[in-house]
Amino acid sequence: MAVKILLVEDEEKIARFTELELAHEGYEVEKAADGRNGLEMAESGEYDLCLLDIMLPGLSGLEVLRRLRKTSQMPVIMLTARDAVMDKVSGLDMGADDYITKPFAIEELLARIRVVLKKSDRSRQQEANASDASRVLTCGQLSLDTARHAVLYGETTIELTNREFLLLRTLLENKSIVMSRDTLLDRVWGFDYVGETNVVDVYVYYLRSKIDDVFGEKIIHTVRGVGYVIKE
Ligand code: CA
Repeated sequence: MAVKILLVEDEEKIARFTELELAHEGYEVEKAADGRNGLEMAESGEYDLCLLDIMLPGLSGLEVLRRLRKTSQMPVIMLTARDAVMDKVSGLDMGADDYITKPFAIEELLARIRVVLKKSDRSRQQEANASDASRVLTCGQLSLDTARHAVLYGETTIELTNREFLLLRTLLENKSIVMSRDTLLDRVWGFDYVGETNVVDVYVYYLRSKIDDVFGEKIIHTVRGVGYVIKE
């Protein structure tokens, strides 16, 4: 099914050009030319993403966003005028996912759309995972209960931070499969993570110090030049 994009933009030329380019990329596009219509359409919940201009007749884009966020977490990319720094800041404060400055290159818009959609996919995925009934992942004596957010070795509870838990869970979900650092970085920290690239190694070290070192069993194995694997 095609991804549906709502484009709220009063400048007809920009709207038409953007619609054409997005349609060419396989997106299904519907347009609104003022804030009130835009808000109404956005609230329908029919769209996967909204491109929202700020200077709009009726309601401003920021006001549309403010009202929309009361009921919906739909991804929103703001379309802002050049140098409107305050608008960008306010938009992000109010829960916009990203913004792009007009006039924009269509390639840049497409890239931002892909990033925002991927993010919202991931959070939906995480919600789905979080809501699935108690699932217990095990490796030998080690068990992880996804619903209770609990980790045990035998009968002993292991206290983990959220990130450690997520890393351990990802490894357990892929038991006996070697996971590269990149894949782990992507799954646990997010593909757009910027920071130390050795963060995976650091967290594996934390996990080992709380599990392997304490219970004297090697659970997380290093596969040199590749990554990590959890196995019995
Ligand atoms: Ca405008």
